[in-house]
Amino acid sequence: MTDSDNSLSLCEAALEFIQRGEHGVFIDGAVRPARSGKVIETLNPSTGRVLARLAAGDQSDIDLAVRAARNAFEGPWRRWTPYRRQELLMRVHGVLDKHFEELAQIEATDMGAPITRVRASKAALLKMILFFSAQAVNIKGETFLNGLPGRVNTLSLKAPVGVIGGIIPWNGPLNSQFWVLAAALATGCTVVLKPAEDASLSVLRVAELLHEAGVPAGVINVVTGLGAEAGHALASHPDVDRIAFTGSTQTGRSIIEASGVNIKKLQLELGGKSADIIFSDADLAKAVPGAAMGVYANSGQICFAGTRVLVQRSIVQTFTEQLLQFIKTLKVGPSLNLETRLGPIISQRQLDNVLSYIDIGQREGAQLIHGGRRLAGELQNGFFVEPTVLACVRNDMRIAREEIFGPVLSIIPFDDEEEAIAIANDNDYGLAGAVWSRDISTALRVVDGIHTGTMWVNCYGHIDPLVGFGGTKMSGYGAKGSAAHLDTYLYTKSVYIEL
Ligand code: NAD
Repeated sequence: MTDSDNSLSLCEAALEFIQRGEHGVFIDGAVRPARSGKVIETLNPSTGRVLARLAAGDQSDIDLAVRAARNAFEGPWRRWTPYRRQELLMRVHGVLDKHFEELAQIEATDMGAPITRVRASKAALLKMILFFSAQAVNIKGETFLNGLPGRVNTLSLKAPVGVIGGIIPWNGPLNSQFWVLAAALATGCTVVLKPAEDASLSVLRVAELLHEAGVPAGVINVVTGLGAEAGHALASHPDVDRIAFTGSTQTGRSIIEASGVNIKKLQLELGGKSADIIFSDADLAKAVPGAAMGVYANSGQICFAGTRVLVQRSIVQTFTEQLLQFIKTLKVGPSLNLETRLGPIISQRQLDNVLSYIDIGQREGAQLIHGGRRLAGELQNGFFVEPTVLACVRNDMRIAREEIFGPVLSIIPFDDEEEAIAIANDNDYGLAGAVWSRDISTALRVVDGIHTGTMWVNCYGHIDPLVGFGGTKMSGYGAKGSAAHLDTYLYTKSVYIEL
């Protein structure tokens, strides 16, 4: 249902969930109040108003959740056959398909992504579940010809690593939680998930739905709370075997330190500062919207955003004119408005951070040629910032070196291929990047030259679980998708059998 201003009214199920008052933690198959007794408020970033109250779990809640996950791991779940786990994942697929609209509305309200964007992510989410359900029946070890004397046979088995601590950010939890949950269900691991304090609602609702779909009690647990408390308690817990972390590089460092307690295995999917390189022979009709949305999608709150837009000097002016034209088509507005292309920033803190970078950029000598301000009028209470363009940016400026995580596009001119590659590589991060050129040889030389986990050619942002996605350098390690993802939820057990 839509109101006269083309805003969606929340469906009954989404409204009922959001308005429950206080949301507890989800442990051992049930919602319960946090042991900590503490509460945090989560805001609607489109309005700046309190949306819901969340349990602020602490060490005692994490202890309880880890115990539930450990018991489930050692219980009947361990003996589920691959087919049974696959069937469970197919039931999860069905539940997500059926409840997606409700989940999308919760997500859009809670984290501010435009509802049209969240709705459009349904196909990708369902595809991810299909991928992991196929992986459930594709776990295999090896047998070897060995060099041992006598009749000793050898083989290697794959076994689930155990209890996974999942720690995820706020910039798209509805989908990103499944990189952890679905991998655990496919391999027979169990999970304690700590969503981000600014956007936990879709994760809490998913936990309930998965339980209804038949995920056994204790296999998936969710503890909401602050990073420094619940997150740290999970990362340093001696009975958690592995941490699957997505978030900032700074937090990634704390997790590496905390994980030393029991030498946890780690998957770290961290920040980025990707270069999007546009050559003079590029098809600008594709490259301009491609590069723009490579930054502005999700209001710039995407790890692989191509925020350093490297443009060959001879077309800087044409590119810039077309970019400014394109930006006029982007409506900024509340997440539930069906015309909104760019929603709010997640929080006041993040908004202040984005605005401070725009200021820093100008003081460093960049030229602000579009946006740069918080939006006022009807949007004044939400955390909205205009799509921003900074021109004449040099790669040594802080705005070109540090992750801003907002709708801020920096244009960096370059002269030739060699210089473009050098600029792209001159950064601590190595998450993603793109190249736009009609000459495939140029494009492939650039792909070859850049040290980064993902490169797109004449497009931006495609991800398929079959292919995978991950970073290098300070963007972390571990894979999302591909067979490598499953491998990290398993360990190898070598077996020697004397006949
Ligand atoms: P963040 O690092 O502040 O928080 C991420 C999660 O870690 C949250 O749940 C938070 O509560 C928790 N946390 C914070 N401090 C902790 C601590 N000391 N110990 C344990 N947990 C702690 O990141 P954010 O601001 O929520 O998200 C934005 C960041 O995430 C950006 O840097 C972005 O690039 C990155 N990101 C990366 C990917 C990827 O696939 N590489 C995907 C999405 C987001």
